[in-house]
Amino acid sequence: MPRTLIVSNRLPTKVLRTDDGLTFQPSEGGLATGLGSIYRQGDNLWIGWPGLFVQDEGEEQHIKDELRDDNMAPVFLTEDEIRDFYEGFSNSTLWPTFHYFSEFATYEQTHWEAYVAVNQKFCQAVLAQAGPEDTIWVHDYQLLLLPELLRQARPEATIGFFLHIPFPSQELIRVLPWRTELLRGMLGADLIGFHTFGYMRHFLSAVTHLLGLPAQNGQIETPNRSVRVDAFPMGIDYERYAQAAVSKEAQQHEAEYREALRDTRVILSIDRLDYTKGIAQRLRAFDLLLQRYPEWQGQVSLIMLVVPSRDQVPQYAALKEEIDELVGRLNAQYRTISWNPILYFYRSLPLEELTALYHLAEVALVTPMRDGMNLVAKEYIASKGDQRGVLILSERAGAARELSDALIINPTDMSQLAEAMHDALVMPEEEQQTRLSAMQALVKRYNVFSWTRLFMNQLAYTKMKQHTLA
Ligand code: UDP
Repeated sequence: MPRTLIVSNRLPTKVLRTDDGLTFQPSEGGLATGLGSIYRQGDNLWIGWPGLFVQDEGEEQHIKDELRDDNMAPVFLTEDEIRDFYEGFSNSTLWPTFHYFSEFATYEQTHWEAYVAVNQKFCQAVLAQAGPEDTIWVHDYQLLLLPELLRQARPEATIGFFLHIPFPSQELIRVLPWRTELLRGMLGADLIGFHTFGYMRHFLSAVTHLLGLPAQNGQIETPNRSVRVDAFPMGIDYERYAQAAVSKEAQQHEAEYREALRDTRVILSIDRLDYTKGIAQRLRAFDLLLQRYPEWQGQVSLIMLVVPSRDQVPQYAALKEEIDELVGRLNAQYRTISWNPILYFYRSLPLEELTALYHLAEVALVTPMRDGMNLVAKEYIASKGDQRGVLILSERAGAARELSDALIINPTDMSQLAEAMHDALVMPEEEQQTRLSAMQALVKRYNVFSWTRLFMNQLAYTKMKQHTLA
């Protein structure tokens, strides 16, 4: 029986070392949920890093055995590899470049070498598991070289690749010293998926301009094979959010929050700490709202949840300071004894509290400078069973291509952003309902399960067509 192997940098389970020994903590992320329907079936497998450093062979074997029972296989990475491959090349070279923050990108030969070595390590791990008939689905920017490495070892393999972040204009890709290797690495796949047609077009144009390969109608002709490229906007597990938002636990949290806030209207923003998310710009726009419409002072609070992330990378530490300072200044300037303009949380919250906030908030402010998709926007929509609420969404989030009934804004335009917040706060309920119900229908239908199905079907079809043409 042919199997499907999922490969990503991280496994959907995090292994932690505690006083009681090793614990295995399943991750609740969107990808883990969406692909759960695949890797848990039969002999299928998910290959990736388990999230901790292991020196001892006995411990390594113990982790392997435990994960094996849950259809997972670990790739063990060293501290040096995590520093140079993950924090280095992946998060300090590729991440800023692909999000149009080239000024933050570093170009270190040692980081590149670690990136090559770790992709090779993943390749060996996959080859140790994969049979000739198996389908291999590789995920994201940490593994751009893996499709081609696998292809060299297994010319006939069925290989899919999905990029979860934006693919930028070829002008940015051009800046990377290793652009040719990276593009060729991706082209080892039979099917390459992106969140939007825009990213797909950028990729086709990069391949044409930088590799000189003909690309038309989502098809790239390499000397040996044709490669299919398509857009698959990723969805969420709609029911999970819809149900959590009205669960007893979430309702209790919401009632507590409402009591503490009294009649204050709530604007909500939720992001990982990242310079791509436009967090500081959003705070400045909220300041502008309070200046331009002083009647909202004492009436509206911004609840801002920032989830700690990548604090080893210098830009993230600097951003954290900038946000802390801005929040401090704005709160000091506007607050009264009975009202806080900004309620700022730097931590992560469990699902019930998260959905309680989604359900409570009259306005959600999702204003990234760049974002591959942005799942928070979709989760907010799914949590609004009563169809009251307004989503303000950056035109530079992948989600904006689908959620056109949101108030779409340019995140650098402070004035437009302040006006959108005002418009959202005064929007008639009927209009809120019309917009939300259109977006709910879409988010419900194009969920993470249909995303998985569409990609896998297209991959099978692409392979079949290659065989018929050969
Ligand atoms: N999230 C979470 N805990 C929190 C806040 C957010 O698990 O306290 C989740 C949120 O529900 C969403 C994800 O983090 O699924 C963020 O995904 P998104 O696509 O918006 O941005 P990313 O962090 O992947 O850039």
